Amino acid sequence: MNFAVVSRGDEISEAKKKQAIEHLQDHGYTYHEESPDTVIAIGGDGTVLQAFHTYKQRLEKTAFIAYNTGHLGFYSDWDTVESLLEAVVDNSLIMVEYPLVEAVMEEEGVSKTYLALNDVTIKGVKGSVQIDVHLNQYHFESFKGDGLCISSPSGSTGYNKSLGGAIVHPSLEMIQLSEMASINNRVYRTIGSSLVIPKHHELTLVPKADAYMVSVDHESFQPDTICRMKCSVAKQRIRFLRSRSFPFWNRVKEAFISLNDCEPRGTR
Ligand code: NAP
Repeated sequence: MNFAVVSRGDEISEAKKKQAIEHLQDHGYTYHEESPDTVIAIGGDGTVLQAFHTYKQRLEKTAFIAYNTGHLGFYSDWDTVESLLEAVVDNSLIMVEYPLVEAVMEEEGVSKTYLALNDVTIKGVKGSVQIDVHLNQYHFESFKGDGLCISSPSGSTGYNKSLGGAIVHPSLEMIQLSEMASINNRVYRTIGSSLVIPKHHELTLVPKADAYMVSVDHESFQPDTICRMKCSVAKQRIRFLRSRSFPFWNRVKEAFISLNDCEPRGTR
């Protein structure tokens, strides 16, 4: 098996990276940054996003493992790097697949496709932004406010959660549209709730501003004129190798409610 390790770059993560490489090489695995079968992300969720974007061209051939070194680490489910490495060598990990967001940005005659593990956002550069929202080609609402966030199920605990969106189990194939501070008055009106959009539906956003910012996970950019952005559940999925004993709702509880009475990670 070929593997690679992506580290956040701090001292602890670098030490765990070295430990992981040595351990797996001792057990006959090959370190191969260009074409790994398994990628271990050591750091926080930001490191998982970085690993995903480094290897998003080969999602069908690559599985990811997240190991947290001190940040929130929502994607992670291991207490010690030793238990993780043992599980890799014993082949006792389970593979789960999570849906992704696909955003196709169309300029005149040209379209660019982006994949997000967590979310895609569109915001104004100077103040609020106006965006027409279409569902399956029908105009649904004209949004005016700070911006819109389109999240995947596993990204629903990120930006989407801060916007009051629902936390979604990643076995559900959907994307979620959440508003950022919509203006609601006699002139502008939006639904006000987050919308859960299934796999077979398509969301199209038509921004009315001349300039706006787009983010895809941790990266932001100011595109040239975009006529429209079509968002849907991507055909591709991300594969994680996870511990058997740390289900999604435990992770939600541990990250957002309490660490105290949670079952220890990766112990069963
Ligand atoms: P960051 O601004 O450095 O950190 C964002 C925080 O969100 C970190 O604590 C990160 O965990 C955590 N996080 C990332 N993905 C998560 C997920 N799926 N579930 C729960 N928490 C998650 O940015 P970053 O680390 O590069 O991550 C980019 C992400 O930040 C975006 O995709 C967006 O979801 C989120 N974000 C949130 C807000 C907000 O809530 N107001 C604003 C902008 C962006 P770690 O500490 O383990 O890295």
